[in-house]
Amino acid sequence: MNRREFIKLSSLLAAGTVTPPALLSGCSSQRLPGSGQVVTTPTVCDICFWKCAGTVYAEDGEPWKVVGNEADPHSTGRLCTRGTGGIGAYEDRDRLRQPLLRVSDNGKQTFKPVSWDEALDFVAGKMREIADTHGNDRMALLAHGSGGTHFERLLKAYGSHAYAHPSFAQCRGPREVAFALTYGEGVGSPDRTDMEHAGCVVLIGSHIGENLHNGQVQTLVEAINQDATLITVDPRFSVAASKSQHWLPIKPGTDIALLLAWMNVLINEGLYDKDYVDRYTVGLEQLTQHVQPFNPEWAYLETGLDPKLIRDTAYAMATSAPATLVHPGRHVTWYGDDTQRERAIAILNALLGSWGRKGGFYIQEKVDLPGYPVSEPAKPNTDWKTIVQPEFPLAPTGVSQKILEACTEPGSHFKGLFVYGTNLPYTIPDIRATLDAAAANLDLFVVIDTMPAEITGYADVVLPECTYLERYDDLRNSPERVPSLALRMPAFEPRHETKPASWIAKQLAGRLELDEFFPWGDYSEVIDWQLRQVGSSLGEMQKIGVKRFPRRTSMYFADGEDIRFRTPSGKIELYSQTLSSHGYDPLPKYIAPEKRPQNYYRLNYGRGPAHTFGRTTNNPLLFELMPENAVWINPLVASQWKLQNGDYVQLKNQDGVVSNKVRVRVTERTGPNAVFIVHGFGHTAKGLRLASGVGADDAGLMTNVKVDPIMGGTGMRSNFVTFVKT
Ligand code: SF4
Repeated sequence: MNRREFIKLSSLLAAGTVTPPALLSGCSSQRLPGSGQVVTTPTVCDICFWKCAGTVYAEDGEPWKVVGNEADPHSTGRLCTRGTGGIGAYEDRDRLRQPLLRVSDNGKQTFKPVSWDEALDFVAGKMREIADTHGNDRMALLAHGSGGTHFERLLKAYGSHAYAHPSFAQCRGPREVAFALTYGEGVGSPDRTDMEHAGCVVLIGSHIGENLHNGQVQTLVEAINQDATLITVDPRFSVAASKSQHWLPIKPGTDIALLLAWMNVLINEGLYDKDYVDRYTVGLEQLTQHVQPFNPEWAYLETGLDPKLIRDTAYAMATSAPATLVHPGRHVTWYGDDTQRERAIAILNALLGSWGRKGGFYIQEKVDLPGYPVSEPAKPNTDWKTIVQPEFPLAPTGVSQKILEACTEPGSHFKGLFVYGTNLPYTIPDIRATLDAAAANLDLFVVIDTMPAEITGYADVVLPECTYLERYDDLRNSPERVPSLALRMPAFEPRHETKPASWIAKQLAGRLELDEFFPWGDYSEVIDWQLRQVGSSLGEMQKIGVKRFPRRTSMYFADGEDIRFRTPSGKIELYSQTLSSHGYDPLPKYIAPEKRPQNYYRLNYGRGPAHTFGRTTNNPLLFELMPENAVWINPLVASQWKLQNGDYVQLKNQDGVVSNKVRVRVTERTGPNAVFIVHGFGHTAKGLRLASGVGADDAGLMTNVKVDPIMGGTGMRSNFVTFVKT
């Protein structure tokens, strides 16, 4: 028998070891206020990672609503659709309720509900065994979300410094690396895009409006209200495209060709910001030479875009510069050439002079908040990155899939793994076989989550975390226009047997005799101590939730200011010597995308306004808004396949993987070469009783993954599907 078989938590529900919910479907309706006692509590939304601050209202201890905090620069007092559904995360009847331990029952593996002591003793015992047998540097962490920092601290104290966030290799890593190569620093989160002051905004495959990153949507709306020129490049007629003066329905995968053509026009027609480029950049000569062949007529053959449209949009950008923002996007792991595409975007912005300029990219600032005084962990015995991901020396952090690959064989580097708050089989493409192998091989596999998502089925131990409405987390101190701190604190007692990540990590540290790295009683002590260092206190923040601080520096470069950028040359690097010395193209090069097989359509995917990936599809309030996804099909294709609105089909990819059935939406908003679905549906975990078996899982169809050679990002847009009629 395998060390671990994949377990769907349904067996527990059937056996009645977890109390079955009153309703197996439908929405837990939101209460209306009555005449009870209303209490308000500050929070920071955890439904996505924009981290908007808000206020939770409870009446007689029961949840009523959550609304935005007006002092908050991330949200300016308004939460998005998903944020207002945050109460649903707390009320979800399918939440994990108690620690679970994998056991063998009559030769079959299952989970047994256990006490916290039993679960934590088991984890700490295994960690000790791993340290004694293999060394204390053999544990790794994959995490997404606020509580991950507690496990990072735990593993560092233990001796293992290996961690990755899927938000790097599966999302915005290519842009961070590309902008760091060009400007010496990344874009950061929230993105430092000054859209509210822009005269021209260019969106390339960025679904702002469907992707509801709150503050970003608000500033884009402000730009539109002020008649900024909006240019949207997208093969799909997205919401943003519908608001644009120029929609460029580009052939998928040819974005670098368009970006090179725009540079060609700006340089050859002398429309770039000469003063800015002369003062701050290096490499214009090489760039000028590089872009010569790529005029709009050449780009037409690659992108399908009218050369006049390419020229007109270049002129529109130049007219508003430097208040022109070519948006770097957020989920940018598409075709495997993503760092180079993001480099092209960074270079284009430099030609327009928009970095550090009003209406372009502002200079972020955060509060200078001291860390709680605590012992410094010893340096690890090994440099895990050179062992696990030597092919990506320019990746500044862990590459998720490389960490998992280093868990799969008896001789692999890692022997134990913590997964916090990330449903890996639905997050990392084509990773399910690797996860199976890791589960079969690892000495310890721990999952910490709020929901019985698919990842729990691989674990030895499942530790149920309480939701963000039931816990303290680190103060939010994100770089922004206005430095601010925001407090998340418990609005309710943790339900069932769930616990905050801060408590779980500290309990494990105690069992491993690592208490000196967790020298506080309750985590609120850490928050109060930090607040007192900057002239506030937990008491004050409990009343106001968000505190703003004055900026210490200017938000933009002053005219003619002498700036030293954090690149090797001290300048903005149009030509990258760093890339060249590592054997990569120093200037972005266009490579034509793979052609689609006959009768197959490129699988395009994105976000919908009601959900954050698969994290929210089981949230009863958000499920009610959008219970399933649909596949968008162009009318020509629909007629060829005799499909109509509302029909159900299955999707089969180029490698023969077939999806769950999905509803057809016939629309001209997608072209005849591609289909589109909203990501995050098609769960198989039976414990997610609303979401299981509903809609199609796009991640499962992504078996052709194009890995970015520079930083390890997993390009996911090189998959094609055809239809299987059901
Ligand atoms: Fe929550 Fe929406 Fe803000 Fe994300 S953008 S943190 S879901 S309110």
